[in-house]
Amino acid sequence: MDQNCLFCRIIRGEIPSAKVYEDEYVFAFRDINPQAPVHILVVPKTHIPCADAVDAENSVYVAKCFEAIAKIAEAEGLSNGYRVVNNCGEDGGQSVMHLHFHLIGGVKLSEKVV
Ligand code: 5GP
Ligand code: ZN
Repeated sequence: MDQNCLFCRIIRGEIPSAKVYEDEYVFAFRDINPQAPVHILVVPKTHIPCADAVDAENSVYVAKCFEAIAKIAEAEGLSNGYRVVNNCGEDGGQSVMHLHFHLIGGVKLSEKVV
């Protein structure tokens, strides 16, 4: 874990969040600036900076994030579908350098990605 990383601090409980799910590998909480009725950030409980840093040693955390996404989506009533987004790096629009997946839904989303 990284001492000063915002999401590491949220995982440690040093910064409050609206938690929706937690297990050994994953922490999930509502985005502070939601873009849709459901907008949840699904975060590995280890400091992986971005998608570029996923490797054979830490990819179990990514798999666990997606297992969690399926459970959270069901709990949130997203039976008609949803979108999972990862922003990577400057061109990808990543603002918090701790890998996270946006789980977005609760409305019919635009078919456009960009
Ligand atoms: P990114 O742009 O890095 O893909 O996404 C970062 C997300 O974190 C943004 O959607 C932003 O609203 C959210 N965010 C930033 N700071 C906080 C915070 O302190 N608490 C919560 N819950 N979300 C945050
Ligand atoms: Zn971190």
